[in-house]
Amino acid sequence: MASHIVGYPRMGPKRELKFALESFWDKKSSAEDLQKVAADLRSSIWKQMSDAGIKYIPSNTFSYYDQVLDATSMLGAVPPRYGWNGGEIGFDTYFSMARGNASVPAMEMTKWFDTNYHFIVPELGPDVNFSYASHKAVDEYKEAKALGVNTVPVLIGPVSYLLLSKPAKGVEKTFSLLSLLPKILPIYKEVISELKAAGASWIQFDEPTLVLDLDSHKLQAFTAAYDDLESTLSGLNVLIETYFADLTAEAYKTLIGLKGVTAYGLDLVRGAQTLDLVKSNFPKGKYLFAGVVDGRNIWANDLAASFSTLKELEAVVGKENLVVSTSCSLLHTAVDLVNETKLDDEIKSWLAFAAQKVVEVNALAKALAGQKDEAFFSANAAAQASRKSSPRVTNEAVQKAAAALKGSDHRRATNVSARLDAQQKKLNLPILPTTTIGSFPQTLELRRVRREFKANKISEDDYIKAIKEEIKKVVDLQEELDIDVLVHGEPERNDMVEYFGEQLSGFAFTVNGWVQSYGSRCVKPPIIYGDVSRPKPMTVFWSSTAQSMTARPMKGMLTGPVTILNWSFVRNDQPRFETCYQIALAIKDEVEDLEKASINVIQIDEAALREGLPLRKSEHAFYLKWAVHSFRITNCGVQDTTQIHTHMCYSNFNDIIHSIIDMDADVITIENSRSDEKLLSVFREGVKYGAGIGPGVYDIHSPRIPSTEEIADRINKMLAVLETNILWVNPDCGLKTRKYAEVKPALNNMVAAAKLLRTQL
Ligand code: GLN
Ligand code: ZN
Repeated sequence: MASHIVGYPRMGPKRELKFALESFWDKKSSAEDLQKVAADLRSSIWKQMSDAGIKYIPSNTFSYYDQVLDATSMLGAVPPRYGWNGGEIGFDTYFSMARGNASVPAMEMTKWFDTNYHFIVPELGPDVNFSYASHKAVDEYKEAKALGVNTVPVLIGPVSYLLLSKPAKGVEKTFSLLSLLPKILPIYKEVISELKAAGASWIQFDEPTLVLDLDSHKLQAFTAAYDDLESTLSGLNVLIETYFADLTAEAYKTLIGLKGVTAYGLDLVRGAQTLDLVKSNFPKGKYLFAGVVDGRNIWANDLAASFSTLKELEAVVGKENLVVSTSCSLLHTAVDLVNETKLDDEIKSWLAFAAQKVVEVNALAKALAGQKDEAFFSANAAAQASRKSSPRVTNEAVQKAAAALKGSDHRRATNVSARLDAQQKKLNLPILPTTTIGSFPQTLELRRVRREFKANKISEDDYIKAIKEEIKKVVDLQEELDIDVLVHGEPERNDMVEYFGEQLSGFAFTVNGWVQSYGSRCVKPPIIYGDVSRPKPMTVFWSSTAQSMTARPMKGMLTGPVTILNWSFVRNDQPRFETCYQIALAIKDEVEDLEKASINVIQIDEAALREGLPLRKSEHAFYLKWAVHSFRITNCGVQDTTQIHTHMCYSNFNDIIHSIIDMDADVITIENSRSDEKLLSVFREGVKYGAGIGPGVYDIHSPRIPSTEEIADRINKMLAVLETNILWVNPDCGLKTRKYAEVKPALNNMVAAAKLLRTQL
């Protein structure tokens, strides 16, 4: 009976790690306090898995910030600007790389494959001096062992590490990251030897890049790496774990040919073809870690279906060699359903969070071993049936309206340059207009007000009064700073998706269903369980209240359908695009109500459009088509004079620039400053962009305050490639997580920079 978990959430069932980290960063608690919280979390996770009966329990899947940054630390690949002098990497250097410090900005952060988790991108050049500089993997293995749990230590595999890295400044064009393989493998060997010496019998290398479209040169790097590691690995069972998609036939061939490897972990939830590959050829005597329990969603597993898949696999790989596993790390799902006090029993019966998935994995393993827990299986079958037939799931009218959108093409009638002229007549903005992305700092006091209103501790009148005061403060501040297009600051919103989900039908909400997004930041994705519709206006009251406080244009602020979809736990009983069209229709109603309420500028955030891009290139076109169409559906009905903005987080969108243009927004603001102006290169290379564009001029993920000169310098770089009359000046993203002490001077410098350049143009 063999069961395995690829990885587990670190934050804790109630985000204990988040609070410990933030208190440490704020100097309210010591490093020892933080270490204690972390150790308690690790031990409770190991205990929980071992109590559940899991055979292969992972270690080193905990992280104070990010597992890729942990690998960077292990390899001593600290960029020189952090002034690290060798030795074991401590919190100072580690968190400086993650978050920046007073004098140096943070390292670049980017999405982990197609998830909403962000990792810190290693920066590697020919001069990095790798050294074994963090013993975390070994320490955690020993820590678990001391608690009586013999774990499987998990390392990011050497090839994936390099493929996820970026070349250091100055060598971007010329440097081959894979050429570093011979330099990092000696460090891996040191770690492996120490793990062996400490008593490890298994080791897991996460090599998720194997699921990408890799050329043969990259595939060969895997062969070369494990050839080289083979002798060091001897005596260990070696699991290569892949996830998030299926493997191409070539990648599978490479995988099963790797020397020294004894087990393969495959995602059987997302991988439509993997099963066939395994069936057609599986090496004798090797283990298959079959990822049948979905690590990416919160739905209870269809145990009967998984069981029959496993039975088929058993016939191929042999009873002794089949291990039941999760499709990927459970990092990407919520922690424990036990803490959900607000969900009703029916919906709860349809769900499984990380803790429940551990139990599912084990139940499947037991069933394979002939000890099927009949009661558990039949309760699961009943829940699956109830979800299929529940009237809460289906709304005929919505189904019809969404189905009617398929295959059609909705667009605004007038082209963007004519629209911009009409809008400028109405708005009369200066060149290089300034704006922000939406949210303003959320103070403890503000959070308290929202919480108390939710808990019925303060009246609706008091709540409205408090939020109005907050909006007034934000409006006054922006006028004082002399920003051109204002926002209301989003004080009524806890989260840009949850806020809308709560007002739409078809959504359910958790109280503790947090998922790590980056560092200490977590999101609580809504659960879309049924057809989506909008019973009544969601933002009109606050936006018109805010507009009434100022003569300047006030942006209406909405979250777009693709982002709502991508940041929710989505139904797995209908295609994603169908759910997306349903949401688009609901947002369309809201856009039109805002316009009727005289809101002339409406921002529809599509922060997460890029991250929904499928991992496989062959699937990109289809996704982009329905995603961009969904966005256009929301605003195809507005007048020319209504200015539609959109905002996108995250940097890597050069490859989808044509789809961004096809969204046909009047203005787009884009996160930019942490990606070294990669964005601008696309325009340098000649892509024509006629709509307004605001590449972020400073990083809002860091507490650092940018100077006027620095911002002016950034804007100048943009002006070199973009027309003066289309450029907007704005921060990278919303200011919600920053403090006023950072936001005020930063925005002040931003406006000063815009004004300075206006005088020079
Ligand atoms: N309007 C949102 C905000 O400012 C956008 C956030 C985002 O793009 N992630 O908070
Ligand atoms: Zn953003």
